[in-house]
Amino acid sequence: MPFYNGALGSPYLSMPTPRNPSPAHSPRTAKAAPDKSAATVAMGWLHTARFLTTAPQLHFLPALDVPEIAFVGRSNAGKSTCINTLTQQKQLAFASKKPGRTQHINLFALGKQGLMDAVLTDLPGYGYAAVPKQDKIRWQQVMANYLVSRQNLMGIVLMCDPRHGMTELDEILLEVIRPRVEEGLKFLIVLTKADKLTRSEAAKILSITKLQAGGGEVMLFSATKRQGIEDVAQLLWKWAHPPGKALAATGDVASTAQGVETEVEEEAEVPEEGFEDQAPTP
Ligand code: GDP
Repeated sequence: MPFYNGALGSPYLSMPTPRNPSPAHSPRTAKAAPDKSAATVAMGWLHTARFLTTAPQLHFLPALDVPEIAFVGRSNAGKSTCINTLTQQKQLAFASKKPGRTQHINLFALGKQGLMDAVLTDLPGYGYAAVPKQDKIRWQQVMANYLVSRQNLMGIVLMCDPRHGMTELDEILLEVIRPRVEEGLKFLIVLTKADKLTRSEAAKILSITKLQAGGGEVMLFSATKRQGIEDVAQLLWKWAHPPGKALAATGDVASTAQGVETEVEEEAEVPEEGFEDQAPTP
């Protein structure tokens, strides 16, 4: 049974000065040209991202009443690169890879002039074989706890390297969040490194992943080819600014840093490993 409730199909009712507010122009529609004014607003909003806090466990995080969107995925899936590309900042998410923070929940605030209207959460990658077993189990519990219990969590972005497809760990994560998705939590699978695929490979993996996502959003993304960036940005903006909730912080944040290129280093292969012993439990 599909677990996605279809809530993403709503039109851009709250987007500032959209050129065409028709649902036919939402990012859900394949090949629709991105709405430039909406894309500019979304990119400007994401560019305001700044480090907020880091915590080793859920209960160390501050309770917040702004929408929170979590980025999750297997190690090396391209999560840090995606966050840096979306926020047009070279180092933002790589701060999560600094010693001492690798197994932390890292929060970034969004909103202009210190006015926070949403939060991006970077959850460390899973499936990295070199991590000691005890650390892995501990981290799985922290992550599951966060995904199940974080009050203001309103959307999850799952990063997936399309050359590996959805891994067993990704499937387990989907099971963990399924009840919340059924209650309305937004959900997007980003297929990273799309530049490594041929056009037909990309089309094929896109349709396969859409089936696996149970009707949730799936988008192709490439930091190097700058593909899918505005589509993802607009979707996140839409999530954080639902129709009927006008937010002052979105008024004049249209100054994007289009010139900032995200560094994409040559990648190293990371061996995958299954969850230890059992699926994470909250
Ligand atoms: P994370 O572990 O999920 O945070 O992954 P990273 O963002 O560190 O990326 C893992 C590897 O994939 C790095 O070598 C990146 O340079 C590479 N990578 C990330 N995004 C892209 C992309 O869009 N295209 C290509 N070709 N490589 C990418």
